[in-house]
Amino acid sequence: MEPRRMYVDGKWVEAVSGGVRTVYNPASGEPLATVADGDALDADRAVRAARRAFDEPGWSDRPAAERARLLFKLADLIEEQAEGLARLDTLNCGKPIREARYDAADAAGCCRYYAGLVTKPLGQTYAVPDGSVAMVVREPIGVAAQIIPWNYPLLMAAWKLAPALAAGNTCVLKPSEHTPLSALRLAELIEEVGFPPGVVNIVLGDGPRLGAPLAAHPQLDKVAFTGGTATGRSIMKAAAEGIKKVSLELGGKSPNIVFADCDLEPTVEYAMFGIFAGSGQVCSAGSRLLLEESIADRFLDRLVARSSRIKLGPGLNEDTEMGPLITPQHWNRVDGYVRWGLEEGADLVLGGQRPDDPALAGGNFYAPTIFARTRSDMKVVQEEIFGPVLVVQTFKDEDEAVRLANDTVYGLAGAVQTTDLAKAHRVIRRLRAGITWINTYHPTYNEAPWGGYKQSGIGRELGTFGLEAYTEIKQININMTPGPLGWYAG
Ligand code: NDP
Repeated sequence: MEPRRMYVDGKWVEAVSGGVRTVYNPASGEPLATVADGDALDADRAVRAARRAFDEPGWSDRPAAERARLLFKLADLIEEQAEGLARLDTLNCGKPIREARYDAADAAGCCRYYAGLVTKPLGQTYAVPDGSVAMVVREPIGVAAQIIPWNYPLLMAAWKLAPALAAGNTCVLKPSEHTPLSALRLAELIEEVGFPPGVVNIVLGDGPRLGAPLAAHPQLDKVAFTGGTATGRSIMKAAAEGIKKVSLELGGKSPNIVFADCDLEPTVEYAMFGIFAGSGQVCSAGSRLLLEESIADRFLDRLVARSSRIKLGPGLNEDTEMGPLITPQHWNRVDGYVRWGLEEGADLVLGGQRPDDPALAGGNFYAPTIFARTRSDMKVVQEEIFGPVLVVQTFKDEDEAVRLANDTVYGLAGAVQTTDLAKAHRVIRRLRAGITWINTYHPTYNEAPWGGYKQSGIGRELGTFGLEAYTEIKQININMTPGPLGWYAG
């Protein structure tokens, strides 16, 4: 089969070097497709195209309603093609098809949200002295590089492109080397909608050879990144050279705090969903479960019993509840953490290995895994494992729950489970985290801001905040009574 090409300046092109790479189905280990494999030359070609598309009249100066019309059309096409897009994500990143269907629906919703938002009032005016009027307008930042990970290939592309395009920027999007297929399908839909050439460019290649030179490109105005904290740090350093705007959505080690007065059965399921959705490869995963001592044994028994019945399998099987990890390398990384946990003395009460089912032997499957009796000084409690590995700690009271919850370098998400709403409010306000839930885990809304405190990132995506992140703020001062200033005598 012909290698899949990248989409640059409105054309489908090979890598400048002619390089190609194979992408795999993580559920079987079988090859899925070959795709172009780019490097710094491809980053340069795409950024120049995006620069031209931004600097020449025709895109950023279009009326907002016109940009909105294109995004509404894209939303309709994503919705029409949702099943095909969901199947691509399932095949390429392994997630169960019902998770991928949510992502496709959300991706369409995200385009629609920003199409609607951008035509609403955004500016402000101020009453200032001297008979002048001051106003503030929002303008596009310019050319944005957008680097996304492999865990939500389609949804992350939509989260990045929709607000940027709504605001009038031009984009160079780099999907993960492991999961480019749904982004390429999205590029076909973008072409069908009729965005001008160069406004959206989708480049293919790996992080070090393509992502790094892309993030460092001198003609960029902004870099938006979702991925690991170590990579985020290197992107921030690269952006520092040109004082580029950066948005970073990084890792997490998010606490899910369960009080004894919770509604037990639903709360067990929230905890399972918090860590095992996406096989735990979710930045906001509820990977630390904090249980109030008086309920801990009973809760853990139910959690282990129900988690042991989670159905693993290829994501295209409708009854699959958990898919594989993304690559064999990532499998080894997750398993390495589990070995560490055992060495550190954590009590493995579930999983910690490949599932027994021989039918799954070809894929990167990892059994749902739970460590009980962990301590804050353990590596498995402090570091993001990014797999289906839950660590459990216990607490005596609210103060201890909050202290344990905040005791990592991360601050992305967190949740409180209790039927006492006053307590829920008290505790949630003390969490140093950007995304929080009460009596649930994981729901994400296009309307609400997404991002983290501490080392979990900089800035917010989604909601009105997500649009602002792709705009510059301009102050315009108007002298309403032009005439001599009277400052100089001569
Ligand atoms: P990365 O942060 O490396 O990958 C995210 C994106 O960045 C990918 O497109 C990747 O490209 C690209 N990238 C990698 N290196 C560079 C670089 N030097 N400059 C610019 N772009 C780069 O995540 P990994 O896949 O390596 O996962 C490592 C860990 O990061 C995970 O185990 C997990 O802990 C965390 N992570 C967190 C995510 C989140 O949503 N917060 C998402 C993914 C990972 P490519 O994939 O092609 O190499």
